[in-house]
Amino acid sequence: MSAAQALRVPPVKQTGYDDLAGVFGGELFLPGSPGYDAARRIWNGAIDRRPACIARCSGVADVVETVRFARQCDLLVAVRSGGHGVGGHAVCDGGLVIDLSGMKGIRVDPAARTVRADAGVLWGELDRETQVHGLATVGGIVTHTGIAGLTLGGGLGWLMRKHGATVDNLLSADLVTADGEIVTVSEERNADLFWGIRGGGGNFGIATSFEYRLHPVGPLVLAGPIFHPLERAGEVLRFYREFAAAAPDELTTIFELSVAPALPSLPTELHGKPVVMVGACFAGRPQEGLEVVRPLKEFGNPIVDLLEPKPYLALQAMFDPSVPHGWHRYWKSVELPPLTDEAIDALVEHASAQTSPRSYCIVFQLGGALSRVAETDTAYGQRDVAYNVNINAVWTAEDGDGERHIAWARDFFDALEPHARGRVYVNFLGDEGPERVRAAYGAEKYDRLVELKRTYDPTNLFRLNQNIGP
Ligand SMILES: Cc1cc2nc3c(=O)[nH]c(=O)nc-3n(C[C@H](O)[C@H](O)[C@H](O)COP(=O)(O)OP(=O)(O)OC[C@H]3O[C@@H](n4cnc5c(N)ncnc54)[C@H](O)[C@@H]3O)c2cc1C
Repeated sequence: MSAAQALRVPPVKQTGYDDLAGVFGGELFLPGSPGYDAARRIWNGAIDRRPACIARCSGVADVVETVRFARQCDLLVAVRSGGHGVGGHAVCDGGLVIDLSGMKGIRVDPAARTVRADAGVLWGELDRETQVHGLATVGGIVTHTGIAGLTLGGGLGWLMRKHGATVDNLLSADLVTADGEIVTVSEERNADLFWGIRGGGGNFGIATSFEYRLHPVGPLVLAGPIFHPLERAGEVLRFYREFAAAAPDELTTIFELSVAPALPSLPTELHGKPVVMVGACFAGRPQEGLEVVRPLKEFGNPIVDLLEPKPYLALQAMFDPSVPHGWHRYWKSVELPPLTDEAIDALVEHASAQTSPRSYCIVFQLGGALSRVAETDTAYGQRDVAYNVNINAVWTAEDGDGERHIAWARDFFDALEPHARGRVYVNFLGDEGPERVRAAYGAEKYDRLVELKRTYDPTNLFRLNQNIGP
């Protein structure tokens, strides 16, 4: 039985959404009401679900009311913030979507170097406010991803090898639990729950705001991509793995195997070319970074080298045009130890066989500060992994042929899995079943998360997620 079938999904009238409207300060979208179709859409265009009601909350009181209402009426509940979860757990068929995307407050304390932000904030919005003060925390690499889902799963980004994962910079969060209570979690308050939300996703409550530690960053950073033709990827990646292994913490690198899109931000000689892109960000003074990245810039004969000083905000927006809302997506992800020749060959072979020019494979270099946090300190783990690989099959409704592109991603995954550690980053999981969720944490941590779930959400109200069942 699916999670959706397991809960009663009463028709709208029976649940009396009028009762919710009476105590709700935000907007309610019911089927047929203006804005309903826009409100049920998320980033992944392959997800097409029709909730009985979308409750766009205006503040914490709305979140409390909707949680209590959902419990009273025994409703299926989905929680949505940035809407980027690729599996589409942020929306459901029937049931109630508790939508935090309208909660946008941000307050920076430049003296304390902290920021508090509401759960509906996107990374581009947060970076913009913190960069006014020359500060930033570790956030995602696309501006329109939500801070909420990304933080609750761990959080990887361009600053991570210097400053750790997003959760390593989380100081506190406010949560509405399954019984409608508001709690603050931090090292000092409800420390067990604070441990769990730093990687355990939305299993234990609805986060309404987050407080992060900030670091001096930019406004200019030495960053950007270097492109080589895909046919030279084997050679480029063999050089790259030695370079990356010796890189200081200040340097975070990401490489991608793709067909370069015809974007105005890319030189025309790249458009439509299969490429290997090696991107880097030096989280320090650009002048000092130049020495560090010199070997990368001098290796081979790149088609284009855009690794140069640029505003941190421009770096954060770099990938935006190639990941627009509405395209159809299917992801498979693995984590790799240091790259072997065989793993490189598998990456190159399968990337070269991609069935859609929109598809790509993106690989994050981990290590550095990430690896110096003890494995048991946060629910987010895999501290000893070297690389995180995300295989993205991408097509549009007009392109069609989704099954073929999905099969490509699965074959790619099957080829890499023998080289992997059997673990996966929870934020890159689609709808892949309980074994993959368990794999994201490992048995010991998973058991600890189950104990927390039993304490804070014994009826599994929050089940549309990478679910840790009570
Ligand atoms: C284009 C793109 C770029 C990405 N880049 C990165 C990256 O650089 N680094 C990285 O680490 N990850 C990245 N990701 C993955 C990202 O971390 C996850 O998709 C994450 O779930 C997105 O969060 P969201 O709030 O936008 O999504 P949503 O779909 O709104 O949320 C995903 C899930 O999180 C839970 N959730 C959301 N909000 C709350 C809340 N307030 N309280 C409790 N539970 C909640 C729910 O279970 C929900 O189903 C990227 C994803 C995309 C699509």
